[in-house]
Amino acid sequence: MCFVKSKIAEDFINDEEIKKTIEFAELNKNNKDLINETIKKAEKIKGLSHKEALLLLLCELEEENLRIFKLAEKIKDLIYGKRIVLFAPLYISNFCVNGCSYCPYCFEKNKIKRVKLTQEEIKEQVKILSEMGHKRIALEAGEDNKNCSMEYILNSIESIYSVKDKNNEQAIRRINVNIAATTEENYKKLKLKNIGTYVLFQETYNKKSYEKFHKFGPKSNYEFHTTAIDRAIKAGLYDVGLGILLGLENYKYDFTGLLMHKEHLEANFKIGPHTISVPRIKPANEIDVNNFKNIVPDEIFLKIVACFRIAAPYTGIIMSTRENEKIRKRSLEVGVSQISAGSSTGVGGYSKKEKFENSEQFETSDKRSLNEVIKWLLKLGRIPSFCTACYRKNRIGESFMEFSKSGEIKKFCTPNALLTLQEFLQNFADNETKKLGENLILKEFKNLKETKIKENATKFLEKIKNKEKQDLFF
Ligand code: SAM
Repeated sequence: MCFVKSKIAEDFINDEEIKKTIEFAELNKNNKDLINETIKKAEKIKGLSHKEALLLLLCELEEENLRIFKLAEKIKDLIYGKRIVLFAPLYISNFCVNGCSYCPYCFEKNKIKRVKLTQEEIKEQVKILSEMGHKRIALEAGEDNKNCSMEYILNSIESIYSVKDKNNEQAIRRINVNIAATTEENYKKLKLKNIGTYVLFQETYNKKSYEKFHKFGPKSNYEFHTTAIDRAIKAGLYDVGLGILLGLENYKYDFTGLLMHKEHLEANFKIGPHTISVPRIKPANEIDVNNFKNIVPDEIFLKIVACFRIAAPYTGIIMSTRENEKIRKRSLEVGVSQISAGSSTGVGGYSKKEKFENSEQFETSDKRSLNEVIKWLLKLGRIPSFCTACYRKNRIGESFMEFSKSGEIKKFCTPNALLTLQEFLQNFADNETKKLGENLILKEFKNLKETKIKENATKFLEKIKNKEKQDLFF
């Protein structure tokens, strides 16, 4: 029995229900009628349950699989248009007391250099990111209360927000935070620091596997980790991000688990996840991916992205530079709405100083600069966006969902994306990117439908171009 509203992890992520769901989907993966009925339901763009979504994920019928991918593309286009949001990770400390066997931060591993940035070093990193053109970052840290306390994290957030860019405006406009599960009290402190999304990957929803991969340290407590998002929401962090580390457990289990987690949040708080992340295990210092028997091949990985898109149409899907250009390109078509670019996974990694060498969490595959990624997106006909408007206008949690489900949000998203793109082009782009971007802005402005918004957006664009003011948004 699965108790979606229960506050106990093993009730709302119920092992028996997940196993039954997998059994059902395996049994019906060639059941044409049932699959077609489910696709029809998905075409209403109201999402799917974990059971329906897994059925589509496991479907083995060629024609139906084509329809599933086409539908994911259609939903992506309809809800997100051509926009792709960009961000970069910022690693501030890799001290860690946990025993996660897939991560080089693991306490027992000693090949990486342990580093914790000072507040001055953090500001230096932010300046470098800002000079690339970034406006959004994901703050990353290992878990170690002594070397990386909550107070240190809170001070770091203040330091990041305090940095000014070359136009003397706040350099970073949104900090998403990916730090270890913590208490409601600590989440309240994060809320007071005005963070964007609080992101916490479950890694795996399978309790037995979870305990196998997390041998010691606070993170080894499955119950505390799995209920963390509940505490974050109770503390007022209404934008929350879920994720699974693909490669640990059988993907069918974790795909289903994540959707059950989503259902639990919706049932209790009327808030679904703001984002879903789909990292795959990557090689790293002392981490050999060949030791993981559940590595997910590319075709299945892309189908996972497509089925998350169909199951949770209004949830952003994030893809990092763990993936290469080819996979990222296809993922953008079938569901991904946010990507990182120009990333370093090393602590202090953006300044390329010797003292920070050998501190990376994992190897990246897409090593292109932010400018190169923007150019690539423009050539693909996408609109690169640095927009941070929603959370700054308090369109978060339930109100964000209502706003986006009614379609209201779309009126603002494209102009906001274009305005932030203009800022990037004039401040950070090379000539080719600038030309491509300006042509796209011209074309997209013509397509804006809401007269009042178009009028104001045109005024904003002029102000940005004339350097009268940056950071204008709806
Ligand atoms: N300490 C925080 C926690 O426990 O959630 C932050 C986690 S870490 C900075 C961000 C994420 O990187 C982890 O949640 C994990 O999913 C992922 N990760 C760790 N090792 C990895 C590897 N070898 N390859 C790919 N991703 C990895």
